[in-house]
Amino acid sequence: MEYRFLGNTGLKISALSLGSWVTFGGQIDEDKSYAIMKAAYDQGINFFDNAEVYAHGNSEIVMGKIIKRAGWKRSDLVLSTKIFWGGEGVNDRGLSRKHIIEGTHAALKRLQTEYVDLIFCHRPDPYTPIEETVRAMNYIINSGKAFYWGTSEWSAEQIRQAYEIARREHLIAPVMEQPQYNMLHREKMEKEFLPLFRDFKLGTTIWSPLASGILSGKYNNGIPEGSRLSLKDYQWLLDRYQAMNWKERSTKLADLAKRLGISQSRLAIAWTLKNPNVSTVITGASKVEQLSENLKALEDTKLLNNEIMQEIEDILQNKPEQEPDFRKA
Ligand code: NDP
Repeated sequence: MEYRFLGNTGLKISALSLGSWVTFGGQIDEDKSYAIMKAAYDQGINFFDNAEVYAHGNSEIVMGKIIKRAGWKRSDLVLSTKIFWGGEGVNDRGLSRKHIIEGTHAALKRLQTEYVDLIFCHRPDPYTPIEETVRAMNYIINSGKAFYWGTSEWSAEQIRQAYEIARREHLIAPVMEQPQYNMLHREKMEKEFLPLFRDFKLGTTIWSPLASGILSGKYNNGIPEGSRLSLKDYQWLLDRYQAMNWKERSTKLADLAKRLGISQSRLAIAWTLKNPNVSTVITGASKVEQLSENLKALEDTKLLNNEIMQEIEDILQNKPEQEPDFRKA
């Protein structure tokens, strides 16, 4: 396993990590979840991602039980949760001081741990002043409930505001963001966040490297039974992808992967790992075999030389346009 620093911190995080959205506490049972998490741990994955909203808290409950059952040392694990959607009550959502603190306490209880290593604001909250959120996160860290805090799907402008409020008020600043990044979603990682990487060395924990499985190629010719996009509760996700234009590109990527002698999933994950601003790529798996397959992507990065990267670029045709550098003639 390769370990990378999480942005500008001293924390080492496995380049590939495991997330529990859709799967833990939902699509798969506890024994399967155990087998997947154990296989990940045995292969050197140390970061396991979670959120208070996943399976309405059940994902954290399952992960907490697995950690106890496996008997792993807490210091060998980097655990996260994300706060935003905690329940139905008027104050069970968003990034108020009340929900951040109450949500964190409830998540720690479900995970059966005294602290999470990483805590994320799962979305921006336009109704709470960012300073209130920064102060609440500062409290969470100073009270030992988390070690680092960050954001998920915030804009560069919102992240910069949080960072600057923290600096001005001598509070702890966010150090990582969790954006979607894959061959079909590139704008934030390859354009919008570039100034944040330059100025703050922002860390990133990437979600949906396979675009929920689309980039594995399994949907190129229909929707396999039992797959994520066939699940009743995820019809909205199917609708979202059906409205996007990816089939032709995915078919071409399948051909390229075949030529390279690897699966399309490995190609897609290796491509995300190549980005030097990625701290870790969070993979999701409903089967141990998927995880084992995806782990091979770490080695496959070596296959992606400039020529192959250009071939991928020619297929994707979606490279974000860069700001012009006016110093160049
Ligand atoms: P992916 O895009 O990698 O999708 C994972 C799914 O794709 C699996 O559950 C499986 O679904 C399928 N799959 C995985 N590997 C293979 C393979 N080798 N061959 C065929 N199918 C495969 O990641 P996720 O969307 O699951 O995101 C990863 C993690 O990121 C989440 O678990 C979560 O922790 C985090 N996340 C964070 C978000 C945020 O807002 N911050 C939002 C979404 C995710 P199946 O077998 O069911 O078809």
